[in-house]
Parts: sequence; C-alpha cells; structure tokens
Amino acid sequence: MKEMELKTNLGTEIDFNGLAEKEIELTGMIQNLRVLAWGAFLILRTPRYTIQTVIDANNINIPPSELKVESVVKIRGIVKTAKIKDKAISPADHEIHVSHIDVISAPTLEAMPVDTTKKEMNLGLDTKFDLRPLTLRHTRERAIFRIAATICMEFGNYLDSIGFTRINSPKIVFAGAEGGANVFKLEYFERNAFLAQSPQFYKQMMVGVFGRVFEIGPVFRAEEHDTSRHLNEYISLDFEMGFIDSFYDLIQVEANLLRAIIARIAKDCAAEVALLGITLPKLEKVVTVKFSEVHEIIFNEYKKDYRNEKDLAPEEEKLISEYALKNWDTEFLFVTHYPTVKRPFYAMEDPENPEETLSFDLLFRGMEITTGGQRLHLLDTYLTKMKKLGMDPEAFESYLQAFRYGMPPHGGLGLGLERLTAMFCGLANIKEASLFPRDQKRLTP
Ligand code: ATP
Ligand code: MG
Repeated sequence: MKEMELKTNLGTEIDFNGLAEKEIELTGMIQNLRVLAWGAFLILRTPRYTIQTVIDANNINIPPSELKVESVVKIRGIVKTAKIKDKAISPADHEIHVSHIDVISAPTLEAMPVDTTKKEMNLGLDTKFDLRPLTLRHTRERAIFRIAATICMEFGNYLDSIGFTRINSPKIVFAGAEGGANVFKLEYFERNAFLAQSPQFYKQMMVGVFGRVFEIGPVFRAEEHDTSRHLNEYISLDFEMGFIDSFYDLIQVEANLLRAIIARIAKDCAAEVALLGITLPKLEKVVTVKFSEVHEIIFNEYKKDYRNEKDLAPEEEKLISEYALKNWDTEFLFVTHYPTVKRPFYAMEDPENPEETLSFDLLFRGMEITTGGQRLHLLDTYLTKMKKLGMDPEAFESYLQAFRYGMPPHGGLGLGLERLTAMFCGLANIKEASLFPRDQKRLTP
C-alpha cells in the first residue's frame, strides 16, 4: 500500500508578472533553437506556451550547439520582462534567462524529415498529412487546433449554461439518418450496420428525456467527391431543443452560441489569432433570408439562373454571402425555408406551404456551416411522411417509440467543427482543420 499526498496544483498557467526576476523551472520541448556566437535563443514548447528562453554560452552546463530541436528538456532560469515581436512566441512580454538545462530525451534521428522551425513549412497537403505527428508540432498548425479546441469547449460551456445536457450517442447504427448514398456500410457480426451520418435519431429521442441536449462527436460520410469542403469523417457539433415555438428559436440559440464562441476565442486564443492573422467576425444581429429569395437575388444581381434548383450551389453560397456582407452588413446569413424534397423525412413542412420546410442553413463567409430546423414530433405525421417516401416504418420502430409516447415540438442543428475552424482560420481546404484527415485515399496516420 502506498498513500500519496493529493496534489491540487496541477495547472500549467504561469504568473509571469508575479515571477519577474525570480527563478523558475520548466519542462518542455525545443520548438526552435538559434545558436549565436554569445549563446542561443531556445524557444520552449510547453502545454500552454511557446516561450523564449535565452542561453549565455559562458554560463550554462551544456554547449547550446549540442542541443537539438524537439528534444525534451527541463530548464531552470530567471524570468525577465521582454518585448518579443515574433508572433509565433507567446508570451510576448516575458522570457527566461537560463542557468541550467537537463536533456530528458533527444530525437532518435539526426534530422527531422520536415523543418518545423521555419515560419511557414510550405509543404504540399499530402506531405503535410503523411508527416502529421511532426507537422502538427509547427506553431501555426498547433494554433489551428487550439482554436478548434476552444470552439468545442465553448460550444459545450454555453449550451450547458442554458440548460442543455451533453449526450454521447452510438456511432454504429441501424440506419443512416440523413438519407442519400453517402453512408458507410459495415459488417456487424451476422448483420449489416452503418456508421452514423449524424446523431439525429438519438438526439431527438433524448429530447424526450432531457428537453435540451447536445453532442460533440464524430460522424461519417462516404462522400464520393474529393472537395475542399468535405471529409469522410468529421466532428459534428449538434444540439436538439424541445419546447420551441418555431425554428427561429433555434436560430437565436445558434447566434448566441456563435457569439459566445467568438468571444471565447478572442479571450483565450489571442496569441493564436495574432499568429494566424485571423479577423474574428462580429455577430450583432440575426439576418435571415428565404431560400427562394436567394435564387431571385442571385438571378437579378449576378445574372445566374439557379431558380429551378432545389438546393444552393456552392457558387450561390459564395455570391449570396458577398451580397449579404455588402448590403446587410453581416458575415453570417441564415437561409430559411429549404425545399421539402431536399430535406430528410423528419423535417417539418411549413403548414402554409408544404413545398418548403421550417428549416435553415447558416452560411458564413461563403460556405454552409450548419443545417438545422424544426422536426416532426407527432407519430402520425411521421407515419404519413414515411409512407409518402416509400419508407418502411417498421425498420424505424426503435426510433418511432419516442413519438408513440409523446414528444414536445422540437428542433436542432448540426455544425461542422472543421468547416467552422477552416472559415475562422482562413484555410483553403477543410482537411487542414482536421488533425488526421480521412478522405478517399487516406487512412494513415
Ligand atoms: P454539403 O451540402 O456541403 O455537402 P450537407 O448539407 O450535406 O453539406 P449536412 O447533412 O447538412 O451537410 O451536415 C450539417 C453540417 O455538417 C454541414 O453544414 C457542415 O458544416 C458539416 N458537414 C457536412 N458534411 C460534411 C463533410 N463531408 N465534411 C465536413 N463537414 C461536413
Ligand atoms: Mg446541409
């Protein structure tokens, strides 16, 4: 038996101001090393910082030239105030003057296959992804995923603060929820199963339990085309909300949620925002436009005729976003009332015009980032709709149970984490916002 004292100070935040002129000990990895005649600048990567340390060659136990980038080291030194211009270094106002270095582990290979100390790595996407465990160590790459992590954290925090309960639904499922051909089939013992295209059925069932739920989890789409906006596995930020008066309630929640996320990024990721040169958007008002109006505007303003199309083409998403920025002063545009034929069976039709659904997409900087809407909540409406679409209600009995025994009016949405991250960070390809992207050709690393 061994009893240990319970340590409670496990954080990694450092009060640099309070420690000025005092000694500090830090463990981390060498992000960058610049050896000069008098000594070296060693940039240390810790869980929270990419901090500048200064080594005096005459006053150190290891010659700086013997150190290697990516070595794990423990340094001891004095905290000094500084003014650092390099945006890859944070904090910018403090550095450490090192007196002692212990090398805990050094890289096994002589040279890294990629130089992560350069300002830009300038690699093709394939090379970048082939070497992902290493390329992710680059300061810019890490910054992207600090932003993504902050989005997830605030998505949960904000929804939790307004009474949503976090759920985790299965990813091995009995049916694809979103229809269409892009569902992965899988052998499941003696049966066929599918990889979840979304948590749709489960989050609806859980509205009957908690009233308001959210989930952050992977979803799978067997997308046939290699595009810059699709992955085969992505992280979906989902919520589903009961007791709504209309789908505009969902839009209000999403707008507030995005505001909270933007504010959190501004506060917690100031260094990442500066490094990546991000201009955070403002969301001060909620602008909606009907789907049918979008076709009209695109036709009248840009002379492109999509009026017979039942979905928005990527080009239209770009153009209407441009238009909205110019004329309505918004980078976020909620497009409402999508055609019924293009929405899944659970979407509620507009009683005033059954050709349209009580649904919306959110466009941000020219790209769809969310689809949401009000769902059917009465069993009869499900049975009628399924019959109309030639679906077999028996196959969905486990889902329909929820409606057989009462459900409140409800709706929800799905927000793609990688799309939002890519749009915030100005990445040209969504794959760059995925740690280990999955596309038709890529299963490793
Ligand atoms: P698109 O029309 O762009 O193919 P979708 O309408 O098929 O997208 P939804 O089923 O509405 O996608 O999914 C909800 C959200 O999930 C989208 O708004 C988007 O943010 C994200 N998303 C959808 N498919 C993908 C994908 N293959 N890769 C990454 N994110 C995706
Ligand atoms: Mg969609």
